[in-house]
Amino acid sequence: MDEENVRKLYINGEWIKPVNGETMPVINPATGETIAEAAAATEKDTEKAIRAARTAFDQGSWRSASAHQRAALLMELAAKIEEHQEDLAQMETANNGKTLKEARGDVAEAVKTFRYYSGLATKPSGETFETEAPLVSRVVREPIGVCGQIIPWNYPLLMAAWKLAPALAAGNTCILKPSELTPLTAIRLFELIDETGFPKGVVNLINGTGPSAGHSLVTSPLVDKIAFTGGTVTGKRIMKEAVSNLKKVSLELGGKSPNIIFADADYESALDYAAFAIFNNSGQVCSAGSRLLVERSIYDRFVQDLTEAAQKIRVGNGADPASQMGPVISKQHMEKIEKYIAIGRQEGAKLACGGRRLLDQGRDRGYFIEPTIFIDVDPQATVAREEIFGPVLCVLPFETEEEALGLANDSPYGLAAGIFTSDSAKAERMAKSIRAGVTWINTYEQNLVEGPWGGYKESGLGRELGTYGFEEYTEVKQIINTLKVEPTGWFAD
Ligand code: NAD
Ligand code: MN
Repeated sequence: MDEENVRKLYINGEWIKPVNGETMPVINPATGETIAEAAAATEKDTEKAIRAARTAFDQGSWRSASAHQRAALLMELAAKIEEHQEDLAQMETANNGKTLKEARGDVAEAVKTFRYYSGLATKPSGETFETEAPLVSRVVREPIGVCGQIIPWNYPLLMAAWKLAPALAAGNTCILKPSELTPLTAIRLFELIDETGFPKGVVNLINGTGPSAGHSLVTSPLVDKIAFTGGTVTGKRIMKEAVSNLKKVSLELGGKSPNIIFADADYESALDYAAFAIFNNSGQVCSAGSRLLVERSIYDRFVQDLTEAAQKIRVGNGADPASQMGPVISKQHMEKIEKYIAIGRQEGAKLACGGRRLLDQGRDRGYFIEPTIFIDVDPQATVAREEIFGPVLCVLPFETEEEALGLANDSPYGLAAGIFTSDSAKAERMAKSIRAGVTWINTYEQNLVEGPWGGYKESGLGRELGTYGFEEYTEVKQIINTLKVEPTGWFAD
């Protein structure tokens, strides 16, 4: 990566310095070290990027470029990401803290996402239906226009791919705003975008804070759509602020997803997935299985085995191949998680393991928290209701299927759910009755680029991925034509 570009923004096909020349530190959460100084865009810079995207869209060369041209560029970009996958993974680990294994997985998924939408670019189809002669009607899909895309820090490169790939495939122009905590892989991605030769103004990068760069995107009358992934509080605020020009809004927000273990489940896989669902990516996953519901008859044994498994997880710098779980993203976020752990204890949840910061082996410089499990948690306790977004699990017992369903749905969120059972009829009943956008049976955290991803209730609005994610970047137009050209005669009599 060109060191100079880190201090720049990518606007209208060029790397340029922010107007006020300000930068912000980029920190490695495993060491607390500042590893770069990245550009901090303000309203003026964002305005430039919006104008570039607006002009690129309104001129029409991208929107009307043949879908095959758009597909070819996306395919070429996918190949470039794949070619640089190891560098990108290492950069992601250094900036986000996640293990190299996790980061490599993310890069591979990003490649898949660009390939999938490259394929989809040439596939949109419309609709026609029987109408009364002489009228004929057809329905076509068109790009929405200028899309502002605001993403979080937990999957920096992958979220950029989820946003850019479908939007570009559908013929929109984009302004991406990564999280101020994790700008690095996006900057590298935009170097690859620059090499790929997208027309100028079609894809732009703004690094900066939410209240500054993000806010300007949300409130601009020249932006047609905001796609956002992040916290529910921010999401609600964005929806309110986007109302000025009634821009389209899609939101991928938080969750408090139930993972339900029935006594008849395959014990070993249920146990393995229970740990994976909450401790992968240090629990910083919107769909994390953070509420574990376990049937009473296996509860004590399951909790004991899970606690043992959690205590064995090797927590350390993600760049060390021996580490199985990395730090959390920042000092501030670590303190928020610690506060939740303290609240859990105050409210009487029993700590089966963890609960502390790890300070030995040099880990005091970074933001490491032990895998933490609260058991016998009251469903009304704060830790059972609010999203913690860290390696903190709440375990609740249940007696019957009905009780499990009641507990599962007793949440303002509705992103995902896991169901572990060997009774397929029970699995189907549960999967259909849980109010969540994604339900997994005997597995967890499987994410398919081909299928819809998104939440019910306060977990969001709209869907990403698959054809659903593509449609979120299109407007529907009906074209009505007549086969008989004649005056209406309306005022003739
Ligand atoms: P956030 O919602 O504050 O930030 C997400 C993105 O929104 C960032 O790019 C940020 O700069 C931007 N943003 C912030 N305020 C904005 C504003 N007023 N206008 C426009 N853009 C704005 O999330 P966070 O601070 O990174 O994390 C807070 C919580 O969000 C976490 O604790 C977690 O609960 C949740 N979260 C959820 C996801 C997810 O995948 N659903 C991802 C990250 C964080
Ligand atoms: Mn998400």
